[in-house]
Amino acid sequence: MKINDLFKEKKVVYSFEIFPPKVNDDIGKILGTLSDIKNIRPDYVSITYSAGGSKNSRTKEIAEIVKNECGIEPLAHLTCVNSTRDEVARAIDGLVDIGVENVLALRGDRIEGEVKSDFAHASDLVKFIKSKCDMNIVGACYPEGHPESANIVEDIRNLKIKVESGVTHLNSQLFFDNDDYLKYLDMVRLAGIDVPIQAGVMPLVKASQFGGIVKTTGAKLPTKISRMYNKFADDPDALMEAGIAYATDQIVDLLTSGVDGIHLYIMNNTYVAKRITDNVRPIIDKLNGAR
Ligand code: FAD
Repeated sequence: MKINDLFKEKKVVYSFEIFPPKVNDDIGKILGTLSDIKNIRPDYVSITYSAGGSKNSRTKEIAEIVKNECGIEPLAHLTCVNSTRDEVARAIDGLVDIGVENVLALRGDRIEGEVKSDFAHASDLVKFIKSKCDMNIVGACYPEGHPESANIVEDIRNLKIKVESGVTHLNSQLFFDNDDYLKYLDMVRLAGIDVPIQAGVMPLVKASQFGGIVKTTGAKLPTKISRMYNKFADDPDALMEAGIAYATDQIVDLLTSGVDGIHLYIMNNTYVAKRITDNVRPIIDKLNGAR
């Protein structure tokens, strides 16, 4: 199934993002995660690719399990930075061969000293995929602006090029301040970008996340979150509960504001994913007209 059809059927699309195991890691651990996800039943699951610059080859393997064993639609991420057209073509053919119908077309993070890629921007990858197959193509967007952009206006202009190249919906970078996100949506819509946009929400439930992933993305931390961290950094149980409560509150506010969807960065933590889903699903079901 092509994910863009979900937005025609539902007012709110609810999905998870997971990362595959490293090439030499045991696959057993992720099988438990996938089995939990099968029971939670998000609308689709996206699987990262080569995150952090490593050439991770297991996105396809996990996408195949998500599709065939969980019965959930996979969205396979694909980066093009530092890749040749032949390498990218092989990756696309591999996804098509196993029946993957949705790809998140990304440039990927540039790593200093790496050789120049055949692709300068994600929009080049979008055009390349379109020229090769009939995949549904998704793109990334950045509510606080991409770190390389001089300003948000420039970033939105570039986003428009990407969408016009053939993207059917966008998944946003994680953010913690809903007001910033809603202002961003207004700007994007004013720029004439009309495709559905899912809000990226990452539950902050472990002290290590504050210095790690959050720092990497450069996301702004509202005072409320900093207070939470300062109070509970040394109390893992309390931080877990506070993080689940914050993400739940953030999602409820986004749903109230009429967003097209929520993309939950679950970091392969299905305990957290289930707790949050149990909290928000009744509202999502109601918005989607479920009885
Ligand atoms: P682009 O859309 O190419 O944008 C990158 C920069 O170039 C921006 O500043 C943009 O304004 C500018 N730009 C774009 N087009 C043009 C143009 N035509 N002319 C001039 N400037 C332009 N990384 C991974 O390695 N693996 C993953 O699985 C992964 N998953 C992600 C999922 C999501 C939802 C998000 C938000 C990010 C993800 N990333 C992942 C990170 C991503 O690869 C980086 O943020 C990367 O730096 C930019 O990728 P992009 O596809 O957004 O690039």
